[in-house]
Amino acid sequence: MNSCEKALIPWNLMLPVDPFGIAKAHGFEVIFVESGFFINDAILQISLYNAKRIFILKNSHRNRQRFAVAHALGHYFLGHINNASNLTVSESVKNFSLDEKDKKELDANRFALDFLMPKEAISSLVEKAGVTDLVRLANIFDISEAAMECQLRRIGWIY
Ligand SMILES: [Zn+2]
Repeated sequence: MNSCEKALIPWNLMLPVDPFGIAKAHGFEVIFVESGFFINDAILQISLYNAKRIFILKNSHRNRQRFAVAHALGHYFLGHINNASNLTVSESVKNFSLDEKDKKELDANRFALDFLMPKEAISSLVEKAGVTDLVRLANIFDISEAAMECQLRRIGWIY
């Protein structure tokens, strides 16, 4: 089982994947904050006594919030955060791209794509349900069309 599959254990197989509920199932507190509190899209905070918090901008687009939570979970499940007694990772939206040069950021983005758009779920929709329209797939996964296209390319459905 890879780290993304581990992270998806609480997933009820319903689409779209609910990163907020899954984060909660793993003991994270997801806190929505007003803009102005910070300028980043997300802050992942692992603090003393293993409190795990993800702060998300209240007013940003739902797609961005969903991706930000999945990305933050990526850092956690990929083991980027080890034995931290009090650690904070701040994220801005420029990190949420596959052009990212930083290996950990790139891996967290790939994790987020696999988390929000599990390969088996895509295959099942494309092969069994015959859903091949990009916009419809993006709607089903509640993700931007750009992210949907990126994932379809990664797993070889489009070239
Ligand atoms: Zn990151």
